[in-house]
Amino acid sequence: MTSQVDVVVVGAGFAGIYALWQARQRGLSVRGFERGSDVGGTWYWNAYPGARCDVESYNYAYFFDNDIVRQWNWSDACAGQAEIQRYLRFVAERCEVVKDITFNTRVQAASFDEAKGMWVVETSNGETVSCRYLVLAIGALSDPKTPDIEGVADFAGEAYFTSSWPRDRKVGLRGKRVGVIGTGSSGVQVIPEVAKVASEVHVFQRTANYVTPTRGGPMDPRLVAGLREDPQAVRQAFRESYGGHVPLGMGTERYTELDEAGRQRVLQEAWEGNYIALAFRDAYLPEANAAISEFIRQRMREQVNDPWTADHLVPWDHPYGGKRPCQSDVYLQTFNQPHVRLIALPETPIERVTPEGIKTSAAMIPLDVIIYATGFDAISGPVFAIDIKGIKGRSMRETWADGPLNYLGTMVHGFPNLFLPSSAMSPSVLSNMATLAEQQVDFIFDTIEWLDEHGRPQLHPRADAQVFWREETLRYAQRRPGALTTKSWYSGANIPGKPRMFMVYCGGFKRYNETCYRELAEGFPGYELMG
Ligand code: NAP
Repeated sequence: MTSQVDVVVVGAGFAGIYALWQARQRGLSVRGFERGSDVGGTWYWNAYPGARCDVESYNYAYFFDNDIVRQWNWSDACAGQAEIQRYLRFVAERCEVVKDITFNTRVQAASFDEAKGMWVVETSNGETVSCRYLVLAIGALSDPKTPDIEGVADFAGEAYFTSSWPRDRKVGLRGKRVGVIGTGSSGVQVIPEVAKVASEVHVFQRTANYVTPTRGGPMDPRLVAGLREDPQAVRQAFRESYGGHVPLGMGTERYTELDEAGRQRVLQEAWEGNYIALAFRDAYLPEANAAISEFIRQRMREQVNDPWTADHLVPWDHPYGGKRPCQSDVYLQTFNQPHVRLIALPETPIERVTPEGIKTSAAMIPLDVIIYATGFDAISGPVFAIDIKGIKGRSMRETWADGPLNYLGTMVHGFPNLFLPSSAMSPSVLSNMATLAEQQVDFIFDTIEWLDEHGRPQLHPRADAQVFWREETLRYAQRRPGALTTKSWYSGANIPGKPRMFMVYCGGFKRYNETCYRELAEGFPGYELMG
């Protein structure tokens, strides 16, 4: 079956839902494809026990429609996975885009037909759709990493991934011996839930992470009233902020202007106010970051009874923020329970998974269940999962063989009218992803409207603009403590053989937004206009 539309949108998460709505608003015909059976994206797949967002719900939401802001009530200041997925369903239904989406269908290939100036999209249900504009709203963290551990397939018990938890949630862990591999944000959330029911929990930790308290709890009614009064003013304020949101707390004093007693006072206030990352106005300075890191390490140690376990749960190899920090009010205390045990892999590495459990260099640990919280092939992984071919049949895999290259985090030279929201070199995970989804989709459809108005059917970025953007990304990364020295998925270091390149723009949301819209105002000088 072959059909033709103006726009194809792949993915039905935050960006995909809004992209479908924007297409309709602008009078464009549109089809959406989603590999899951419902909307939600990240919040559909990561349905593991304990999954919740650690960006506050009042920030992590759409603001394009006043009625959505006024009608939706968050039950918690940091909502859980099921509630966020319900919210996305509510928005998709309100915006009447569910009818445009074909669920349970993967987009497998997309190739650019130069003669016709159209993308030809092939799906897993055998359908082929041609479109003028292709929006891959496929997320940055949607391609789970295959664990690089010998014997994974040999395990005779049950195995689960946090990144694709069974939708029916019928995972019986009660009374079972459970091993959890991975202690990133997902591991830190799932481990305390597993410990509530399992008879034994063995946590296999390769790298310790910073863990600070969550900002959950009931929503402040005054905050909610303020948001609802003028949602568009809030939306604008987010776009003019550094992180795409307005934090609830922020230090007002500078590390460099305080003596040691003053610094400790400010750190304590920030800890109690739950804004430790922003304790100082100059928190971005390496010396201020070092003080924040040490303060968190001390608070973490205090929560763990056993000195060996405390020592090993505290991160020493990277500064706070070098890799994605975690939030939990219960994770560290979980290790005070007698049936929960930490295994420090740098000292006793995993040798292999066996049919009975996991064998480390020190012992054989018999298990009934293994939970892999081992992360994702971030940012480029989901793009490579689709066989994308641009001008002259050149593939995205070839084009990005040495690492992702693009302009303004959305478009790639040689791939006209292909848009990649939340991709490499956008503020992505170092900003509020909900604000970013709206901003990027607005920019994409403003670009499409401009092309139609100016009779220019296609555009793609100039090669030199991409080089400039990569240098900009690197320039700002150099100013971020630990960004270039920490092994993290931000730079592809979690995937053996993946080219190392810091993939997140940290020049701030305001600067990013202004740079995008300067292009539009000046007629796209960083792009080649075609046709
Ligand atoms: P992650 O941060 O990449 O963590 C993966 C964990 O698995 C790390 O501890 C890693 O160790 C470990 N690991 C990977 N391969 C391993 C192996 N072969 N042997 C032993 N350990 C191994 O993945 P994630 O926790 O799923 O989180 C990914 C991102 O999703 C987060 O950074 C965040 O942006 C987002 N997220 C957000 C939330 C939230 O809002 N609360 C929740 C979940 C996820 P190393 O560190 O040594 O590589």
